[in-house]
Amino acid sequence: MAGIIINNSFTADIDVDCLIIGGGAAGLTAALAAKDRGLDVLVAEREDRLSGSTALSSGLIPAAQTKAQSRQNLDDDYDVFSADIMAKNKNKADPDHVRRCVNTVSKAIDWLEDTHDIPFHVLDGFLYPGHNRYRMHAVPEVTGAALINRLEDAAIKRDVLISCNLKVTDLVLTEDGQIKGAKAIRPDGTVETIGASAIILACNGYGGSPDLVAKHIPEMKDALYFGHTGNQGEAILWGEGLGAELQHLSGYQGHGSVAHPHGVLVTWALMMEGGIQVNLEGERFSNEHEGYSEQAVNVLRQPEQTAFNIFDDRLLNMGRDFEDFRNAESAKAIITADSLEDLSLKLGLPHENLAKTLESCADQAATGQPDAFGRVFDPDKLLKPPYTAVKVTGALFHTQGGLAIDDDARVLKKDGTAIEGLYACGGAACGVSGPDVSGYLSGNGLLTALSLGFIAGHAV
Ligand SMILES: Cc1cc2nc3c(=O)[nH]c(=O)nc-3n(C[C@H](O)[C@H](O)[C@H](O)COP(=O)(O)OP(=O)(O)OC[C@H]3O[C@@H](n4cnc5c(N)ncnc54)[C@H](O)[C@@H]3O)c2cc1C
Repeated sequence: MAGIIINNSFTADIDVDCLIIGGGAAGLTAALAAKDRGLDVLVAEREDRLSGSTALSSGLIPAAQTKAQSRQNLDDDYDVFSADIMAKNKNKADPDHVRRCVNTVSKAIDWLEDTHDIPFHVLDGFLYPGHNRYRMHAVPEVTGAALINRLEDAAIKRDVLISCNLKVTDLVLTEDGQIKGAKAIRPDGTVETIGASAIILACNGYGGSPDLVAKHIPEMKDALYFGHTGNQGEAILWGEGLGAELQHLSGYQGHGSVAHPHGVLVTWALMMEGGIQVNLEGERFSNEHEGYSEQAVNVLRQPEQTAFNIFDDRLLNMGRDFEDFRNAESAKAIITADSLEDLSLKLGLPHENLAKTLESCADQAATGQPDAFGRVFDPDKLLKPPYTAVKVTGALFHTQGGLAIDDDARVLKKDGTAIEGLYACGGAACGVSGPDVSGYLSGNGLLTALSLGFIAGHAV
């Protein structure tokens, strides 16, 4: 239970300048920024090691005007990036909040490189849906696990105190609302108290709480949750207890391409480069290029809540550049076939329908016009034998709604005033996707983790 304790004479087992709740990308970025300023920081992480959704992610962070982009001669700017985010959320997110994140994430990435020796490069092989520039930054290993390891190493080098197996259960405040610290519990039931006049909520959203998902995102209540189970929604529960403003709780990142039943992510890059999705009738049902987030819902609407991603040899080779795809291959999720007939047989799809689907993609490519779903097919990227396929389902990756914050990442109350000493970043704060699944532009998750973590760490 996430509680609020009112105690005017709180004394704690340990006192720090700043307590950070959650050791994902947001918490560690905030910790490094606060530590750079000479503050005494404690990161409390409920799990036995640092992971969070960050380690489960592909680790791709969108940013414009970074040093990495300029090293690779990639042209981009804040205006184009902000416009891409706003176009995807159909102007439903707060443009000032979007701008705050866009303007800061590049500073955070450059600072992580320059000050904390975390190198980044930009993936420039293909564009993610909705991004008009190459701006997905990754550490050399191109995984979320490596990103978290590198952030953790940097934090250790700077003597940031990290305490795992420490689940924060209650925030402690005085009667007049001053932050005093928090109460936490160890797995053996031992209670510990931490005194701090500033607390940064970096404990992500509520994807790991079936009750909160059913309440705020009923359409995903029965869907597979693919994020970190430690994200139980304490930030919004504490916020509710303190009269904080909560925004866009129905917003989330879904994904329409999780290998089923293997449970491995199959990169959407292949869909952008010519792949298609068909249902058990062998028919397409959507514009795959709209984005993978809303595709979660589209796939879940199909018979048996599944679909097949159809690729070919060219895309198979491209997929092998991605660790997730290699994992899907090792898990034997990838099916190959020399001909379309053979593929239909292996997948149990009506051959005639599948053949018609591929023919209509080719016909559509010849016109150069969008098809009935709005997708424009590139004649150079039409699928050819031998074919490859993977059975997939839709999943909930993480929630995008959360606490409203100001320019310093301070949590705002419903009346618009800030709660002094309380900050939120990453998935604990409201994101930049608006209230719908379709508002999620690739990378909106780590965008707010790094940018708001950076802001909060500098503001405390
Ligand atoms: C499969 C997958 C792929 C993704 N790929 C991308 C991508 O490529 N790019 C992108 O931008 N986004 C991606 N995302 C989303 C991204 O992972 C998240 O938006 C981002 O990691 C959020 O960072 P965070 O630090 O806020 O949360 P997290 O990394 O989840 O960290 C929060 C931490 O808080 C801890 N915690 C929670 N409650 C408490 C408590 N009470 N006390 C102590 N600790 C607590 C949790 O255990 C957790 O470790 C992906 C998500 C998934 C699931």
